[in-house]
Amino acid sequence: MEPASGAVMAEENLSDLLRRRWTSVVGVFAGPAIDPAIIRQRVRFMERNIGIWVKAVIAPALFWFLFNPNTFTSLTAPREDVLHYLRNYTLIMTAVTVGYGIVLWGMDELATRFLERVVYIVAMLDLAFLAAITLFCGGFDSILYWVFLGLVIRNAAVIPNAEVQVLVNLTGCACYVLSGVLDIALTRIENVVLDSYSGGPSTEMMQEGASEPFESLVLRVLLLLLMTAVCLGLQVLLDRQRQREAESREFALKQEQLEAAGRLAAEIAHQLKNPLGIINNAAYTLHKTVKEGKTITQQIAIIREEVARSDRIITDLMGYARLAEGRVERIGLAEILEQSLEVAFPPGSGFQVQVHRDYVDPLPSLLGQRVHFLEIFTNLLVNAREAMNGVGHVWIGAKATPDYSVQVTIHDSGPGIPSDQLGRVWEAYFTTKDRGTGLGLAIVKHNAEMYGGRVRVDSEVGKGATFTINLPARTLMRLQ
Ligand code: ADP
Repeated sequence: MEPASGAVMAEENLSDLLRRRWTSVVGVFAGPAIDPAIIRQRVRFMERNIGIWVKAVIAPALFWFLFNPNTFTSLTAPREDVLHYLRNYTLIMTAVTVGYGIVLWGMDELATRFLERVVYIVAMLDLAFLAAITLFCGGFDSILYWVFLGLVIRNAAVIPNAEVQVLVNLTGCACYVLSGVLDIALTRIENVVLDSYSGGPSTEMMQEGASEPFESLVLRVLLLLLMTAVCLGLQVLLDRQRQREAESREFALKQEQLEAAGRLAAEIAHQLKNPLGIINNAAYTLHKTVKEGKTITQQIAIIREEVARSDRIITDLMGYARLAEGRVERIGLAEILEQSLEVAFPPGSGFQVQVHRDYVDPLPSLLGQRVHFLEIFTNLLVNAREAMNGVGHVWIGAKATPDYSVQVTIHDSGPGIPSDQLGRVWEAYFTTKDRGTGLGLAIVKHNAEMYGGRVRVDSEVGKGATFTINLPARTLMRLQ
């Protein structure tokens, strides 16, 4: 909402702005938030069912290769020293892999966050280890290069977080380059050592062929980077596709539920209206004919009053029949908050209310009928405005919570609600205003609960009132 002329002021500082910019840049690459169940499923399949067994098969061959004295018969310093470190590194990695196997074995007992972290670290260590072995298998030209490509694909499958995935895979590229460069450096030193013994032309020979490895290196690194980008792009596309499918399933379900509720309400209202009308007519006739006996006329009056009350309730119920007509849509939370602000504080209306927004878009979206969410936030804002007599401060906060819901808090600087009234404010027809209907908060509660949400009020007299609304946004925040 535009800061209304002399009325509503939006406050946004520099850090909010930077936060907003950064989130939108990263948001382009980030897929939707991932359901922990999906993360576990991926780790189970890629790491527990495949990865760890592949390592178990490779390990003996690797040991035989590295620790067999016949493998490296002609190594000279400094490569021999490096081999010594590599052997130690292999032993450490074996211990790490055994530990990793134990973690994977007991993964059902572990928190998803912890499991994720372990997977990230192991992915990094694997790449670094592969780079170390590459040093002894031909450097840039090593056949192990293809294993780097394999690890990039494995990382894409097992690390759903786009930023971490890119970071790990770029580290992989860097490890490969580093091992190639080290290989060249070590070869040069070795040649210099050999030259000093033989005085031969080995260094010249090396320089002649120098441009060829460089080209092949560039190509190989480009292929690695390309694979990183393609894997990421593919994953984001697939994730979004799944998200869309989940969304449309949820759309259809919500629409169906609301329509069913609407049809039921209309049916009940229709069925009850008729007998009520008959009772009302009968009571009216009775009232006219029975003139004597004051108690009877009083009783009849009570019947007619209660009939009128039931009729009002049924009319309300009929209002729910509207549910069948509305359209379920995906609604941006920030957008609906702005829209509600505009309704509660129309530009130029002259309210001296300062609005403090404590949220940064993009916020999760809601799925439902716009009118219901609009009613929730508008009613709360109008109440805040009325409580402050149009002069004061309103703080609106919105955030996603770990349980896949969004939480909106609306706090005002009004007089607050006395503790004896706190429990009653959600009741229909409860009002302390001369011209109030007492329906505003009942509607807020009803609408929120209709979508599986929760409402809460906290207040202290003299310190304003805080209304907290939690609305589920599960489908839109997770992957299916
Ligand atoms: P109405 O606004 O018609 O009275 P509501 O259901 O919206 O109906 O509100 C019920 C009562 O709750 C109000 O009459 C008021 O006493 C109290 N109330 C609601 N919001 C606030 C608020 N922000 N500050 C103080 N009291 C409030």
